[in-house]
Amino acid sequence: MKIICIGRNYVDHAKELNNPLPNEPVFFLKPDTSLITRNRPFFYPEFSKSIHYEIELVLKICKNGKHITENYANTYYNEIGIGIDFTARDVQQKQKQKGLPWEIAKAFDGSAPVSNFVPMDSFHNKNNIQFGLFKNDVRVQDGNSGLMIFSFDKIISYVSKFITLKMGDLIFTGTPAGVGPVKIGDQLDAFIEAETMLKCKIK
Ligand code: ZN
Repeated sequence: MKIICIGRNYVDHAKELNNPLPNEPVFFLKPDTSLITRNRPFFYPEFSKSIHYEIELVLKICKNGKHITENYANTYYNEIGIGIDFTARDVQQKQKQKGLPWEIAKAFDGSAPVSNFVPMDSFHNKNNIQFGLFKNDVRVQDGNSGLMIFSFDKIISYVSKFITLKMGDLIFTGTPAGVGPVKIGDQLDAFIEAETMLKCKIK
């Protein structure tokens, strides 16, 4: 399986990092070795002094497909969860300055904790899903799928022009504003609507 992540999909987050708003989705990949499941802890890596959390809704692909049109895109995912796109912000800044790829700052081991997945139909309106993150019991990020620049369907359609989507692939759909650093000992708790879906201890 593969993990595809969308960058700059919320206006307020693009602005907080002084990034221009994209005309088309920006995406990058993480390998399966970045996954953390079952609320296992995240181990702070030695190559960074600035690991940031980014809370994101995550789609699970349920059918193989390529060149998927936007109006059929919703048949390619039927479950949603929440994940953290851990980012080595200091390393990413250096890469950006040099115009180099971000993988080294995004794709490292443990950089993608994800929750269990729940049926998409459990939500009345997939374009109005509230989610967010607590760090040490303080609410630090708040998002709503209705504020995405590119909708779930647009993302699926766009990415599948370049990459065949396969059953079990995950798509991180971008983070709202409020990203920030973690340190060893921090506790992260992520929620969708009223439900805590994911817990991650920083070790
Ligand atoms: Zn992200």
